[in-house]
Amino acid sequence: MALDPRTFIAATSLASLVMMLVFFVQSRSFPESIRGFRTWGLALAVGAISASLFAARNTIPGVLSSVLAHILLVVAFVLALWALALFNNRPLPWRISLACVALVGFSMTGLFGFEQESVLRTMATAAVHGILFGCCAWMATRDRKSRRLKFGIYFTSSFCAIEMAINFARVITLFSDNHEFTGLLSVDPMQRIYLGGFSVNILLASVGFVVMGHEKLVENYQELASHDELTGLYNRRKFIEGGELELKRAARYDRNISVLILDIDHFKVINDTYGHQAGDVVIKDIAAVMRENFRELDLFARYGGEEFVALLSESKLADAAALAERVRVSISQRIVHVGSDKITYTASFGVTQARPAEQLTQLIARADAALYTAKNAGKNRIELSS
Ligand code: GH3
Ligand code: MG
Ligand code: MG
Repeated sequence: MALDPRTFIAATSLASLVMMLVFFVQSRSFPESIRGFRTWGLALAVGAISASLFAARNTIPGVLSSVLAHILLVVAFVLALWALALFNNRPLPWRISLACVALVGFSMTGLFGFEQESVLRTMATAAVHGILFGCCAWMATRDRKSRRLKFGIYFTSSFCAIEMAINFARVITLFSDNHEFTGLLSVDPMQRIYLGGFSVNILLASVGFVVMGHEKLVENYQELASHDELTGLYNRRKFIEGGELELKRAARYDRNISVLILDIDHFKVINDTYGHQAGDVVIKDIAAVMRENFRELDLFARYGGEEFVALLSESKLADAAALAERVRVSISQRIVHVGSDKITYTASFGVTQARPAEQLTQLIARADAALYTAKNAGKNRIELSS
């Protein structure tokens, strides 16, 4: 079955417009932190207009079906690149975009003529498209936050990369037998692969972008459910979940495991004297101390208001006590600058080691009791419970 290129391009434009609708509707249901959807939708719309102009070639003036169509197509590319940059909170590689727009604009000038098909011009645009698809493939993987590449990213990036390869193949075939090129709407095999590949890959890359958005949404909610917003540390819920697992593992392999709880001393006074926001800065400061002092293997979290907890794997009571003492001294030496105020603070600690087959709640209760003793014994100290 041979599909008339004009019909094919028109069908692609229509599909792009429908896809654009999906993007605009989706952008409304995503939180503000997930960006780039409207811009990608706009890229699809501009691309669809461009494709319609191409399809109308020879029925409308060349300046529209060729010059404007090419320029709009590159604008669509730049918008797509911009959308990916927004999605990943990255700056747009605007120098590349500008250079490509300039190159295509230049190739559209009188240099190659408006009306007739020019092999040289087609090669130049295919090369530019190849570069821009390559940039999109690369940009899709530039997620600053997530170290793991996810399915949507793979999907979008792969189809952009395939399209990059098709464009470069087009340059090579045009270069090797340029006499056979009979125009955009011709039916030679390379031209078919080019036109077919273009529409399929654009639509699949767009599907990938939607998946990227949903994966980011899930990731954001998972982060919200397991992390404390102020400090970025794990929250109580995540600590209990991870702690129970860790405790079971320790019991199974007969390993030592200890827990420490710390609570800032006279925190109400800090809040009353310097204000609630200064109190928040102190809480963030203690989180920084914990990040500095605990190992990656340790599970530590903000347990409550100004109370923090850590589960120390492979640690006996004496190891945990030594670590607690180190953290206590670190904290007592901190100076927190808030405006012109210099705030110093201390914390008290309760430390205990897990008994065989002990539940996490029992372990925490014992550490809490030790903390209570430390508070009653004068604060800024650690208390052990065996
Ligand atoms: P103690 O030395 O016995 O621990 O006394 P304290 O003043 O620290 O007393 P307590 O632990 O009962 O007080 C905790 C206070 O922490 C009460 C609450 O208003 C405040 N708080 C809880 N969460 C936050 C927070 O996120 N930010 C700020 N700034 N204050 C908080
Ligand atoms: Mg306190
Ligand atoms: Mg407290």
